[in-house]
Amino acid sequence: MLNIVLFGPPGAGKGTQSENIISKYNLTHLSTGDLFRKHLGEGTELGKLARKYMDEGRLVPDEVVISMVDDKIANTPETNGFIFDGFPRTVAQAEALDRLMEKNNIKISGMIALDVAEDILKERIRERGKTSGRTDDQDESKIETRIRVYLDETLPVAEYYEKQGKFTKINGVGTIEGIFADITKVIDQY
Ligand code: ADP
Repeated sequence: MLNIVLFGPPGAGKGTQSENIISKYNLTHLSTGDLFRKHLGEGTELGKLARKYMDEGRLVPDEVVISMVDDKIANTPETNGFIFDGFPRTVAQAEALDRLMEKNNIKISGMIALDVAEDILKERIRERGKTSGRTDDQDESKIETRIRVYLDETLPVAEYYEKQGKFTKINGVGTIEGIFADITKVIDQY
């Protein structure tokens, strides 16, 4: 089984590259952002709870995210593996994911981090905001908040995987195909 954590700041291209990885390796996409947006669209209690955090660009509380991921893994019995996209976003989530993996007798193969400079990220998010309909992509202060939250709370997750010898950084600036080629070189060595 391949279980890959795709890591990087907002706007790094995780969603785009996830799609490529999924079709090549036949994996299950587990994007916590997408799952929350689905709940939001369906107006579930979980969606209502997540909304107030998402609208401000802040993180949804760990226990809420973790139980949603636990459910998704439990409800996906037959798979070649998972792409974790936008999760884990805190060290507590990374520790919880390790426990979930252990419970299901599976392992994280590795983390692939997409590296993109901050000014490029902001430009990409603004561009995406013109068509994505995401309110968190359309407001400068929300974009700033998300990048700050990434630097403060999410970046330590990279170190967590580095300590386990599971971390690889890739240049996230270039053509989509070129970046994907670099990603496949890493995955093919797992
Ligand atoms: P992006 O990485 O482009 O900001 P995502 O779609 O991954 O977008 O996430 C959108 C929002 O959903 C985040 O700003 C946050 O509020 C919430 N969210 C997504 N994943 C998590 C997570 N693992 N932990 C906490 N909050 C999350």
